[in-house]
Amino acid sequence: MRPEPFFTGAGLDRADQLRGRPEDIAALARRADARQLAWKDGLPGIAEDGRLVWQGLSAPDLFLGFEGEEPRFSAIPEAVEGSRAAFALMGSLAPDQAPIFAAALSLGGWHTRHRFCASCGSPTEIVRGGWSRSCPRCSAEHYPRVDPVVIMLAEHDGALLLGRQPHYPPRRYSALAGFVEAGETIEDAVARELREEAGIAVADVAYVASQPWPFPSSLMIGCFARSLSRELEVDTLELDDARWFTRDEVAAALADPDSGPFQPPPRFAIARTLLECWLAS
Ligand SMILES: [Zn+2]
Repeated sequence: MRPEPFFTGAGLDRADQLRGRPEDIAALARRADARQLAWKDGLPGIAEDGRLVWQGLSAPDLFLGFEGEEPRFSAIPEAVEGSRAAFALMGSLAPDQAPIFAAALSLGGWHTRHRFCASCGSPTEIVRGGWSRSCPRCSAEHYPRVDPVVIMLAEHDGALLLGRQPHYPPRRYSALAGFVEAGETIEDAVARELREEAGIAVADVAYVASQPWPFPSSLMIGCFARSLSRELEVDTLELDDARWFTRDEVAAALADPDSGPFQPPPRFAIARTLLECWLAS
């Protein structure tokens, strides 16, 4: 079974072939069925039925693409909210709307933070329907950031390594994770993070699935790895704790998050998807 983490799926037709044709995008914005995303408290608005909230066009700065046949736009928000406020709403967001939510939040947030050229400091201009910014002074092109993060489950002899970050809610254990550094492969980053945070050496790093994580612009790259030993040396600056869980303990935690052996990560996190994949494997 192919895993389908939250924030993934069909979502928008991004219609990137139109991005270099501003007249065509302007014509789409004049269509009666064109809609603009309604932002609420720094996040894409979510209605009671879990659908995103759309309104008439007032500032169609960003051409998001098509939802079905209908053109979708967004203004650049004044500011975007952080992950904590968004997490509280994720349970109410319809899964088929989540890819659009992720694209709009990540792209909108990037524009709020990248108004000036990183090369020369001049104000930049929106181009390509909002999927790029261009510097009129030095001609540099700037593209929305995507920051790769490896997130992984290490297994040793039927047990799984999970850790607790200091900001987690009580009883939460989840997959270890870390940013891929410049010049690293995915496999290198998985091995380095597990060595740094848990003191284990691993082999057989295998890709499982990925997930856009728009807080603000990560791409979570989910992997499995095989640990070569059971002994841990936990980096207590990064983690409160890390320990091995048996297959039965993981199954019990997923079956009963509130009173199982630990509280698993929420359903919208790819760490949860990885745990479910591991149990099914
Ligand atoms: Zn410049």
